[in-house]
Amino acid sequence: MEKMSLHEDSVVKETLVDERPTVLDIKELKVHFPVNQGFIESLANKKEDQKYVKAVDGVSLTIKEGETIGLAGESGCGKTTLAKTLVKLEEASSGQVIFNGKDIKDIKSKELKNFRKEAQMVFQDPFESLNPRFSIRQTLEEPLIIQGMKGKKERRERIVDTLEKVGLRPAENFIDRYPHQMSGGQRQRVAIARALVIKPKFLVADEPVSMLDVSIRASILNLLQDLVKELNLASVYISHDLSLIRYVCDKTAIMYLGRIVEMGPTEDVIRNPIHPYSKALLSAVPSPEPNPDGLNVSLEGEAPNPIDLPKGCRFHPRCPSATQACRENEPKGTYHEGRWVECHLFE
Ligand code: SF4
Repeated sequence: MEKMSLHEDSVVKETLVDERPTVLDIKELKVHFPVNQGFIESLANKKEDQKYVKAVDGVSLTIKEGETIGLAGESGCGKTTLAKTLVKLEEASSGQVIFNGKDIKDIKSKELKNFRKEAQMVFQDPFESLNPRFSIRQTLEEPLIIQGMKGKKERRERIVDTLEKVGLRPAENFIDRYPHQMSGGQRQRVAIARALVIKPKFLVADEPVSMLDVSIRASILNLLQDLVKELNLASVYISHDLSLIRYVCDKTAIMYLGRIVEMGPTEDVIRNPIHPYSKALLSAVPSPEPNPDGLNVSLEGEAPNPIDLPKGCRFHPRCPSATQACRENEPKGTYHEGRWVECHLFE
């Protein structure tokens, strides 16, 4: 492990170089959505008056083979938009997502099929993400057919093998069922199987257990962890629940209004957060210990409107440590105590 140099304007990079191959290199990624205007407004306004929701607003990070990165933050912080952009379900407004050496914005038509084979997403809702008219076999067979696997026997073997991997054993008992004939946990296992049946290199799991009973969450999380290790997948795990991120992820990134404000090894970020927003977020996590690790910061008020972000640090209207400098200048990211942090207190 050696020290890494910052590339200019980089927002988030690791302090230590990880020797594993990089699967995803994200550079200054922005995803801005234009705000719809009324007809009269659109006639009156000039092009430069167009407003945007800045869902992702300058994110840089790398994801290595076999690494799981947790994205945490309040609702609307941009974590799901970021994740969808990484698997090309949203288009970037600017910046780059380099996947296996290629910018994914240049991936078109034929190549898109290959990209879909390598980058998969598991959604939050196992009830909505499966087609109720498809049996489990059809659900898992469809991506294999799209990817050009011709042999029926070969496809069936792959499906059976994947169902067994996700714990639906014996697979023959499940293969001809329909989603309504399965429990919520079994359906989420099928959703995971569908993502993995084509052997991707990169997996995004967006709140994969939040719709499930507490009693089966642990088994799904263990399953995801085991599969990520076994298949050496690079993965992004999104959750607003930091205890789940702590359980699953090697590294954790805390997002606030489209930016990563703190990122580092999960245990460091969660046990000893240093950014005022991370501290407030961690303080809000219920814990059996009173005031764990001295955290006692309350998060006041609502996040500002992402269409009209405040000048300076975007967290300043809610930050108990805000100074005049915070109201005027955006903080530049820096390294502190082995993690990346974006706050004037550490510059
Ligand atoms: Fe708070 Fe200032 Fe740091 Fe922003 S830059 S988090 S307002 S102390």
